Amino acid sequence: MEHVDGPSQAKEYADTALQLMLRYEIPATPANFEVWYTYASGRDTELNEALDLLITNNQPFTQDQNLAVAQQHVRTADTSDTVHETSLKIEESVNTVLGFVSEANDGAVSYGESLESNLGAMANAENLESLRRAVETLVSDTKGMTAQNSLLKGRLEESSKEIQSLREHLESVQKEAMTDGLTGIANRKFFDTSLRQEATNAMETGSELCLLLGDIDHFKKFNDNYGHQVGDQVLKLVGMILKDSAKDGAIAARYGGEEFAIIVPQSDLDKAQEIAESVRMTVASKRIRKRSTGEDFGNITMSIGISKFKPGEPVVDLIQRADESLYFAKNAGRNRIATEQELAAATSD
Ligand code: GH3
Ligand code: MG
Ligand code: MG
Repeated sequence: MEHVDGPSQAKEYADTALQLMLRYEIPATPANFEVWYTYASGRDTELNEALDLLITNNQPFTQDQNLAVAQQHVRTADTSDTVHETSLKIEESVNTVLGFVSEANDGAVSYGESLESNLGAMANAENLESLRRAVETLVSDTKGMTAQNSLLKGRLEESSKEIQSLREHLESVQKEAMTDGLTGIANRKFFDTSLRQEATNAMETGSELCLLLGDIDHFKKFNDNYGHQVGDQVLKLVGMILKDSAKDGAIAARYGGEEFAIIVPQSDLDKAQEIAESVRMTVASKRIRKRSTGEDFGNITMSIGISKFKPGEPVVDLIQRADESLYFAKNAGRNRIATEQELAAATSD
């Protein structure tokens, strides 16, 4: 549902938004205003982080940039509205169908009653004329019933088509809400939901669960050297590599900025390490080139930390151990992976 601010609050946010838009020379369009109003309200930490990142990196706030932020953050409000509207429409369609069915049912009951009385009339017919009348009534009632049935069939088919298309619409909206706009892989929201779900599954089935957290090495420098747009292409490439590496129910997601995650259900540290190693090697082996000019930007590397779920622990602890292992890998020289075991062994010395 959309958030509604009181008038004085709204004015304060709107004033701040306009000041910021002037300061950063942002084109005055309704879409840009929506983004900066949300920023001023501070109610979406991820949006504020995304914009702070652009500001601190002195990135020009282009129309494309704005669209990306808006799609990723502000649009979530629209998504829940769409879901709500679509489910109302489906409910409406179902009610219409129920109306048809009950109408047809009433028709069937009266047809049944008429059949019975006609049968009675036939049995008691004393002459040909009264038998003929009973048969005629029977024929005309049956015709009526058949017409009503084919009308019902048509209406049901129409409604079922409508419900089907609403369902497909709902599915695509839901999918979009769970997808990262830039890389096309799962977003943070989907990651959070999936990790909780997989942790519950692991406890219920007694199976193992591992988490990989990866972060691109020296990515700030890469952006500084070659620009944010080339950086975005790199993020897309890394997203694709992660998606390809996440097999057998593993879930690849963009965790935020230049950080990625893979949830690996039914896996011990060894198997998770194999996946991490394959991701690390594939990323390091790619040469980044500008398609249009062939300009060579060299290659990038990634460091990855791995943790293993302890049944019953909160998922934030699992994430924290993966994060600590990741920073252990960074400190050990980057372009490498580290498991929580290696981290524990190193810190206990
Ligand atoms: P480290 O090896 O320690 O991870 O160094 P780093 O430079 O990668 O880390 P740091 O956290 O200092 O910088 C992260 C950089 O990632 C800063 C920012 O420009 C870049 N980044 C984050 N999100 C995006 C994005 O959506 N697009 C682009 N192009 N760059 C991004
Ligand atoms: Mg980082
Ligand atoms: Mg980094």
